[in-house]
Amino acid sequence: AITLSLRVAPFGERKRQRLVMGRDITKIQRINAIRRDFVANVSHELRTPLTVIAGFLETLADSAATPEGHRRPLEKMQNQTRRMRSIIEDLLTLSRLEMEDRADHLAPVDISRLLQGIVTDAGTLSGEAHHILLDADPDLWLLGNEAELHSALSNLVFNAVKHTPEETKIRVSWHNDPTGPVFTVEDNGPGIAAEHIPRLTERFYRVDRARSRESGGTGLGLAIVKHVLTRHDAELTVASDPGRGTTFSCRFSAAQRRSPSPEPPPEDV
Ligand code: ADP
Repeated sequence: AITLSLRVAPFGERKRQRLVMGRDITKIQRINAIRRDFVANVSHELRTPLTVIAGFLETLADSAATPEGHRRPLEKMQNQTRRMRSIIEDLLTLSRLEMEDRADHLAPVDISRLLQGIVTDAGTLSGEAHHILLDADPDLWLLGNEAELHSALSNLVFNAVKHTPEETKIRVSWHNDPTGPVFTVEDNGPGIAAEHIPRLTERFYRVDRARSRESGGTGLGLAIVKHVLTRHDAELTVASDPGRGTTFSCRFSAAQRRSPSPEPPPEDV
């Protein structure tokens, strides 16, 4: 009898717990879906009026009839409009990423080529004031969604430019580890204090709000990175030593490794 009661009671208990948990998860998922759709709808609705405002501001800025005293406020309004547009675009990107757990339109991606473009753009963003070094294995391709991967990797490289002073050394690397392909961005900038690291991928979380705004950030970049990596079964790690620099790494699984596609045969003329 003792054996029976011991076995039956916990089992019944566990069943009840599972049922309650099941209900909670459904509720959380429903609330999440409502939040996601709401944010997506609001962002979408704000796009058109903002485009109209930006258009009129540009007309005023270009017009010879605009009084000189209005030029500075106009420029500020244009900057803020650009900022709002970036936030809206990032929110829409996040909503799209949240729709599905896994990336689609998968194809072998030449990450080394992708990184060459990103590093060139990062140099332009920095006004060539940072020392950016690229060390990428051209034979290491990755099965993934190219647009999403571009967005995640460029966010990490641009962050190293945006959040570090001029003359900072930034090393971008793409190589194969025994565990699988690894992407890292290492900088010798100011670093990030340990207490901020667990919260970095939260939406709108910024270590230094004012400074980050100045650098043109939306505060959504690392949230986008996290979603893209989750959808690619990859892991993001951050190691930082305040005063000495930060390293962001993305670890992909060995199963996603691909070799370069063979050259397409020459077309018949
Ligand atoms: P933001 O648009 O502000 O760049 P992110 O989500 O991309 O937003 O980054 C969140 C915060 O993480 C940034 O505001 C910044 O404080 C910090 N951060 C990101 N990358 C670095 C880095 N390489 N060095 C120092 N701080 C960083």
